[in-house]
Amino acid sequence: MKLLWQCSELLLDPENPRDFNQALMDLGATLCTPKAPECSRCPWMAHCQAYQLQMQADLPMRETSSPLPHKQIGVAVIWNDQGEILIDRRRQEGLLGGLWEFPGGKIEPGETVSDCIHREIREELAIAVEVGAKLMTLEHAYTHFRVTLTVHHCRHIAGEPQALESDEVRWVRLDEIDQFPFPKANVKIIEALRQSPNSSFKP
Ligand code: SF4
Repeated sequence: MKLLWQCSELLLDPENPRDFNQALMDLGATLCTPKAPECSRCPWMAHCQAYQLQMQADLPMRETSSPLPHKQIGVAVIWNDQGEILIDRRRQEGLLGGLWEFPGGKIEPGETVSDCIHREIREELAIAVEVGAKLMTLEHAYTHFRVTLTVHHCRHIAGEPQALESDEVRWVRLDEIDQFPFPKANVKIIEALRQSPNSSFKP
């Protein structure tokens, strides 16, 4: 920053700094545009370092943004025999803390979606499920990563659900699920469930 101040003091006319700034802005707006500088018409050409080094097409340099990390997630819509769905409330700390969601998790290398759902549900809820038909696949982007959610209908087979990795678990009916706040990506799952008539476990 100090170096920039020193440079600007060298360049600027101490009595008419406004003229210098205006001329610079005019040059940038008319001739020295970022995509197509018109050097042949430019009054500054004889002094321009970029022109002399033939770098005018490469400036200004931009940081190339690296693609966002991408996670594949298996998600379970778990039905019980009463036609209710199992949801869990995320822990308060961390991303989307305190919101409700359909259980699931990251698909590990070498796992199928079904393998992932079986493992995640066992680890998170200590229950066994049968993985049935796919409900949907959806993409969602967060600030620092993006996810692909592959959502399957599942049937509860055995075990009392426990909140091993969440704050709370609950069986809910589809017509009361709006009482619980869900993240945006999960809201799309609820919409899909609503649009599929007689929604329930599909083998
Ligand atoms: S000569 Fe330099 S200042 Fe003029 S248009 Fe070309 S790059 Fe821009």
